[in-house]
Amino acid sequence: MPTITNPELRRALADRVRYYNELGIYEFYRRERDELPLETASIGIQLNATASSQPELREEMSPRKSAVVAKPVEENAFEILTTRPEQKASDPVVALKLIREDLGDCTRCKLHQQGRKQIVFGVGNPHADLMFVGEGPGADEDIQGEPFVGRAGQLLNNMIKAMGIRREDVYIANIVKCRPPGNRTPERDECETCSPFLMRQIAVIKPKVVVALGAVAAKNLLAINAPMSELRGRFYDFMPAGARVSNPTWQGAKLAVTYHPAFLLRDPRQKGEAWKDLQMVMKYLGLKPPQKSDPS
Ligand code: SF4
Repeated sequence: MPTITNPELRRALADRVRYYNELGIYEFYRRERDELPLETASIGIQLNATASSQPELREEMSPRKSAVVAKPVEENAFEILTTRPEQKASDPVVALKLIREDLGDCTRCKLHQQGRKQIVFGVGNPHADLMFVGEGPGADEDIQGEPFVGRAGQLLNNMIKAMGIRREDVYIANIVKCRPPGNRTPERDECETCSPFLMRQIAVIKPKVVVALGAVAAKNLLAINAPMSELRGRFYDFMPAGARVSNPTWQGAKLAVTYHPAFLLRDPRQKGEAWKDLQMVMKYLGLKPPQKSDPS
């Protein structure tokens, strides 16, 4: 960590870091010194950035419009603020709890004021080898506060059972944690605002395999804009943002893409294709199906 001696610059930087912490973002990268103005070259983050001067941050993080009140900061605030709260915990149960506390009664994106009943954080085994990530909560999930509990959830349970494991063995979460009104697809800014918390959950759980359920989950996790036909049928190397710093002992997960169970309910003919995706995952994890292996 470079030493910042100018107190004004230090305070401004800490305020900026606090702003990104509010968005659930704790990791930052250094830019090349010769790309930066002299007064900020030593710290690698440009203050008072404009659209043209900070394309990387603008692309990955769309800062919300509500102002974050700047508070006076301590001399060592920068070091504190660049550490995720969960990094203090070695137990994933505690770490997930700290992420949930950091999320709070979240108002970071507009979904908080579009009829959500509660935040649907995620559920399952904090030590899971296998994680499923969907798009966002539906009506049943919004009521019960748990992902995949409606009809699509029943089908997901059957898919998990067909893999020879139980729902309690895996961890299940969504790209956005609040129900989009009318079950619409979450918008890009909503996904970008919410997904850093999912990334932190994945970094804590350290699964061997993440299965993206549907195109929205796949595109947000992989940052690839491609049709399902191209996304499915292979493994991707996946490392959630920031995990290299926070989990030096974990080499990341394999990520597979399959159809969202809600889509399979609408088009049951695709269940066979989804089963092929799950068989690929089972093979990698060394799972054996029980007697009946058809998830339908
Ligand atoms: S969807 Fe995520 S970012 Fe948006 S209000 Fe809900 S918890 Fe916050």
